[in-house]
Amino acid sequence: MTKIGFIGLGIMGSPMAGHLAAAGHTVTGFDLSAPALARLVEAGGQRAADVAEAVAGAEVVITMLPQDEHVEAVTTEVIAAGGDGLLLIDMSTIRPETSIAVANSAAHKGIRVLDAPVSGGEAGAKNAALSIMVGGSDADFAQARPLLEKLGKTIVHVGPHGAGQVVKAANQLVVGGIYALVSEAIVLLEASGVDAHAGMDVLAGGLAANRILDLKRESMIARDFRPGFRIDLHHKDMGIVQAAARQADVALPMAGLTAQLVAAARAMGHGSLDHSALLKVVETLSGRE
Ligand code: NAD
Repeated sequence: MTKIGFIGLGIMGSPMAGHLAAAGHTVTGFDLSAPALARLVEAGGQRAADVAEAVAGAEVVITMLPQDEHVEAVTTEVIAAGGDGLLLIDMSTIRPETSIAVANSAAHKGIRVLDAPVSGGEAGAKNAALSIMVGGSDADFAQARPLLEKLGKTIVHVGPHGAGQVVKAANQLVVGGIYALVSEAIVLLEASGVDAHAGMDVLAGGLAANRILDLKRESMIARDFRPGFRIDLHHKDMGIVQAAARQADVALPMAGLTAQLVAAARAMGHGSLDHSALLKVVETLSGRE
């Protein structure tokens, strides 16, 4: 059994830390939110007063934080408090170059780092069914794997530091782009007087089939945009996609368009709605609110 420090006990981190505690690991968690700490204690973990206390004595530290700046701040504290041999697994979605920079600064103290962002949302975290894409060394992945298996079903080592974040960026690009296209298909069908339910059922059975059509077409046609995954988070992720594209020196026009649609959703005040609310942007563009 492993002594784990877990920092960031929000929508995703809370059930993930709970699974590790339920598996018998010693989980000492820290979060800025008192209710988040109380949830961890209920789930069998222990609360720490700060990052340093969560890191003290830990063999593995896991971080699950909102954005780059939170990861930079917290990992600086983890590196200051941690010692030689510690394995730091950052599961937040951030820019690949931030993951690489964290790994480089940690290496000076003999701390090993993996970037391990996830896909699958709150349901995936609760059901321990996440997809986890991991960047870092073979040896560190081998050490992390038994812990990651308590959190997810698809766990793939995709390359060196930052590679996990690049795969996550590609994932968010494809998801955002498909939401935009499904939205346009619904608007086209409805504006043409064709039954959207029947039309989308046909699409879901042919070459246009995809998971978003399977899982979300009914809620989108019903205009049920309860989150799910919020537009605000997808906006952050499209920023990561664009930064990664610039870093790799590639032009991704569909990524640019998708990023603008997500930005429009946010600017229209839909930031806290599910990302399927891209449909509202497409409707507004056609004067069909
Ligand atoms: P969240 O906002 O619910 O949780 C983040 C937690 O981090 C909060 O509880 C917050 O209090 C804590 N935190 C922030 N700064 C801190 C600090 N300095 N020290 C300690 N705790 C701090 O976010 P989430 O939905 O759990 O997402 C976490 C990450 O996972 C994000 O990068 C997100 O993009 C990614 N992600 C989310 C989903 C999803 O469906 N929610 C799916 C896949 C990936």
